[in-house]
Amino acid sequence: MIDPMPVIDAHAHCGILDRSWPQSLEAYAQQAAETDIGGVALFSPVMEIYDRYDARFVDTPAWRLRRKESNAYLLSLKPVELTVYPYFFIWNDFAVEQLSPAHCGIKWHRHAGEPVYCYDDPGCRLALDEIRRRQLPVILEEEFDHTVRFIRELAEGITVIVPHLGMLNGGFRSIAEAGLWAQENVWADTALASPDEVREYLRGYGHRRLMFGSDFPFGDPCSELRKMLSLHLDPAVEAAVLGGNFLRLQACVNPI
Ligand SMILES: [Zn+2]
Repeated sequence: MIDPMPVIDAHAHCGILDRSWPQSLEAYAQQAAETDIGGVALFSPVMEIYDRYDARFVDTPAWRLRRKESNAYLLSLKPVELTVYPYFFIWNDFAVEQLSPAHCGIKWHRHAGEPVYCYDDPGCRLALDEIRRRQLPVILEEEFDHTVRFIRELAEGITVIVPHLGMLNGGFRSIAEAGLWAQENVWADTALASPDEVREYLRGYGHRRLMFGSDFPFGDPCSELRKMLSLHLDPAVEAAVLGGNFLRLQACVNPI
């Protein structure tokens, strides 16, 4: 008998430097143990990468070190009960030289009012070239205008995952109206998205580029998974969204 495919959570935050939330691996594993989740993509917490509460934040050696430690921590996690897929959280030092063969993707994150990414820095283009070469997916949480620019101008040949079905990238509908969901290289995750938007996405764009995610610790893996199961999707569609698509995306990554 073939084991059923494990569920993979494509979106969770994990770290031990930022103590504002219980977001250690142990905290995650405890919640996931009550579910069929067998794998998880982990990103560093934002507050381990830059000061999100200071729009004029200036990078320092101390923050660069904190970022490096935070990203390295995820690489060190090898729990027996879960497969960890570490993502590298990139910031304005565009430190792609820290990428290792174990990295499974790139986390690119910013909200309105937070310090901006230097998209016009030559280092940004060079980083994107390296990301493209490695075929690493980029999970992009950004304001709407930056999201559009990133996908249309910067990310050609790179898979971009828009989290939360666009909730924090200008909204599901704005992304739809800009024609982005229809693009082959634009994927999405279901973290904290409404069941109606999940259904609408599946009707409009099919099930091949949608992945289950929880947004732990802001979302609860159990209830996020329950939300997906309660949609009673066709079994093949459900299997794809709950893990198959994630593995298909990972299979494209060129580790060296
Ligand atoms: Zn998140």
